[in-house]
Amino acid sequence: MVLYDMHIHSKFSFDSSMEMEDAAERAIAAGLSGIAFTDHLDVNYMPDGSDVYYYFGDYLKRVNEVRAQYEGRLDILSAVEVGLQPQVLDENIERLKGYEFDYKIGSTHLISRVDPYDGSYFKIEPEKHHAYKRYLRELIKNVALYHDYNTLGHFDYIIRYAKFDDNMMRYSDFRDEFDELIRLMISFGLAFEVNTRSYDKTEMDLEVLKRFKAAGGETVVIGSDAHRYNRIGLGFEKALEYIKACGFRYIAHFKEGRPVYDKIG
Ligand SMILES: [Zn+2]
Ligand SMILES: [Zn+2]
Repeated sequence: MVLYDMHIHSKFSFDSSMEMEDAAERAIAAGLSGIAFTDHLDVNYMPDGSDVYYYFGDYLKRVNEVRAQYEGRLDILSAVEVGLQPQVLDENIERLKGYEFDYKIGSTHLISRVDPYDGSYFKIEPEKHHAYKRYLRELIKNVALYHDYNTLGHFDYIIRYAKFDDNMMRYSDFRDEFDELIRLMISFGLAFEVNTRSYDKTEMDLEVLKRFKAAGGETVVIGSDAHRYNRIGLGFEKALEYIKACGFRYIAHFKEGRPVYDKIG
């Protein structure tokens, strides 16, 4: 089947040193049809308030070179993962102005300027329900404020870095938040990302994706969030099982800002 990894970080991202060609070779070896380089634009991300970014012009030139190099063997898509925070809305719009990408992800990495990545968030919020709820409320606030992208990135990002006995984020524990989030996603036409990096140790609660479908959501995208080439395409069989179990018969990739649907099977 046609299968794209729609979330990969090349060395244009501050936290990856991956060459685009190495990613492409790995993707071909893994039997993928295409990949998207979703490098980070994270304004006001660093503890000192500085930004994580790169020159989109250089990036797009490089993607075009690699796309030409792999033509007929692997589809190479230009993309960006836009870091969302309530105070960076205008700056994101300004930075992205004038650049065309095949695909854009909107992701919440920071809660009140803290990334759960290094564990410090869980020192501030040691109780699971409160910690997760606060993340979801932040996510909802960000999506309500800014939604000029195709897909909501890793809705349960926080579960990767939690160290509870049970890290799973369940619909039944956060009904109000998920109902609100899904309502916003549907109204802004955002796709649902199954980000396999979140499910190394913890399962996804399928009820969240089922609710998205029941609310009219049609577009689901899979991404590995690979920062190293050996993660590309990882966990995709499980992701496809999740998506099928929720009643979807197609997954999507994006080209020139529009979804293309690929039959699961
Ligand atoms: Zn991310
Ligand atoms: Zn990412």
